[in-house]
Amino acid sequence: MTRPTADDLDAADALAEFRAQFVDGDGVLAYLDGNSLGRPLKVTADHMREFIEHEWGGRLIRGWDERWLDLPTGLGDRLGAAVLGAAPGQTVVADSTSVLIYKLARAALAMRPNRSEIVIDRDNFPTDRYLVEGIAAETGTTIRWIDTDHDGGVTVDLLDEAVSDRTALVLVSHVAYRSGYLLDAPGVTQLIHDRGALLLLDVSHSVGSVPMQLDAWGVDFAAGCSYKYLNGGPGAPAFAYVRQGLVDDVAQPIWGWLGAADPFEMGQGYVPGPGVRRLLSGTPPILGMLPIADMLDLIERAGIDAIRTKSVALTELAITLSESVLRPLGATLASPRDPDRRGGHITVDHPNSRQAVTRLWRQGVIPDFRTPDGVRLGFSPLTTSFDEVERGIEALALALG
Ligand SMILES: *Cc1c(COP(=O)(O)O)cnc(C)c1O
Repeated sequence: MTRPTADDLDAADALAEFRAQFVDGDGVLAYLDGNSLGRPLKVTADHMREFIEHEWGGRLIRGWDERWLDLPTGLGDRLGAAVLGAAPGQTVVADSTSVLIYKLARAALAMRPNRSEIVIDRDNFPTDRYLVEGIAAETGTTIRWIDTDHDGGVTVDLLDEAVSDRTALVLVSHVAYRSGYLLDAPGVTQLIHDRGALLLLDVSHSVGSVPMQLDAWGVDFAAGCSYKYLNGGPGAPAFAYVRQGLVDDVAQPIWGWLGAADPFEMGQGYVPGPGVRRLLSGTPPILGMLPIADMLDLIERAGIDAIRTKSVALTELAITLSESVLRPLGATLASPRDPDRRGGHITVDHPNSRQAVTRLWRQGVIPDFRTPDGVRLGFSPLTTSFDEVERGIEALALALG
């Protein structure tokens, strides 16, 4: 049997109709970086204008009481249901991923006062590593670094060696930002809990493309970005999840008035607010939340399982094409071949990667360069066509050659 072509796959794509809902970039031939910054939805431009003219412009300060103050938890609950596998009351939208990871990591350490180590891998996203370095310096905690395979990520076996009765917290990514390795989240959670430690899962590179069951897996804390597969726009606010059983014990270090029990009492002395709201610090970024709500409408219609099915088909096609046209040029796959261990992107290594990506960007073919010599190809299931994958990889072959 011959393999299906990109055209066959596009013709059979159950999610193809969604592509027309997004703004088409001027002169963009292949957008292969939707995992770094998703495209905007067309309807978001209308909704932003309506919001400015009627809600902000019309309701003015009354808007806070009428709707805005509830958006961090309201949108959080929608994220929980659509993509996180989380029941209501455990997720808030706020801050940036970096700030939320800081808050959650400090909260976790405070829950394990007699333990002295944080476990993290050297290939985790830089902000995660730097935050842990800062927290270690601030709290006197020791970092226990894990080394992972270049084309893999953190495994249960690696954690088995690293996590002990000294471990307070493990911080790992659900999908590794470079290799695309997809963590065995239930297995990892089990091992960490067996050792009495807590897990903070960074879901920035999986949310909106890989289905999650945070509640069922028993994950303690999670945080992630909403400008990648959630198409929230540059600098869109992030989200944080805290497992129900821990919510009322969370003590986070940035004590602002909007995370306090009764913000409008304006009283003396900070008392943390009820439930997951206590993760908030200052005024929520309402404008930045509007595009996330639009994308959630689409994800709810498409269904996260159908999105994952297409995501796997996109990375399979990309791997097949890179074997046939990139490997002969000396490129090697730096991502898992097993689709069950792979997220929504792949990385291909080649010594000419940096120059090739610069050249491709000028032509409107947009992958990402990742040190030391990787070209990262990200596919956003609701916006990327199979034809776009093929065009992108053919252009990459010319640019590398
Ligand atoms: C993109 C990404 C971040 C980004 O954090 P910001 O605070 O939004 O800059 C953090 N962690 C991971 C794993 C990411 O992929």
